[in-house]
Amino acid sequence: MKKPARRKCKICCEWFMPKFNNIYWCNPEHGDELAIRKRNRDREKLERELKKKQQQELAEKKDKLKVRKLAVKPLSYFKNQAQQAFNAFIRERDRDLPCISCGRFHDGQYHAGHYLTIKAHPELRFNEDNAHKQCAPCNNHLSGNIINYKPGLIEKIGQERFDKLMSHHALQKCKRDDYEQIRDYYKDKFKRLSNDNLH
Ligand SMILES: [Zn+2]
Ligand SMILES: [Zn+2]
Repeated sequence: MKKPARRKCKICCEWFMPKFNNIYWCNPEHGDELAIRKRNRDREKLERELKKKQQQELAEKKDKLKVRKLAVKPLSYFKNQAQQAFNAFIRERDRDLPCISCGRFHDGQYHAGHYLTIKAHPELRFNEDNAHKQCAPCNNHLSGNIINYKPGLIEKIGQERFDKLMSHHALQKCKRDDYEQIRDYYKDKFKRLSNDNLH
């Protein structure tokens, strides 16, 4: 058997001659000390792993709960989310423009006002040519102030696009996935637009 070479004690760093190959300490006290240190290290490692596992489990639980909660939401919930994202984009797009109907810039709330109402034309709910920034008084109290909306709209998008808007559009039947896609699409569009507007 090969005789072990001299080595440094892991505790005091003094040179010593080990009796066996698996001895890393110069005397029994340093042997105990080394064993204690190793135990502590092992325990800390175990605690860290346990904590990590618990956090992972908690995150998974939260995800599952979220999925379950969404699964019981009605379709209207996702439709509203898509509508909110779309409307926010329209307001951001028209940020520097006046109300499409009355042409005024004024303080107060602005909405995304649909030219052809969602109720009468659900197929144009998410049509960008059909929705424009509108002041709250026009949107809420003047039923969209449609008489004045029309000239403003034609001036803004041009006769050709206006005619296209007024032509027939098929109504797409939307499922939850479709609404989620529309929501994400407009959230993303909004984000990119508002970043551009900042610079
Ligand atoms: Zn030692
Ligand atoms: Zn107005």
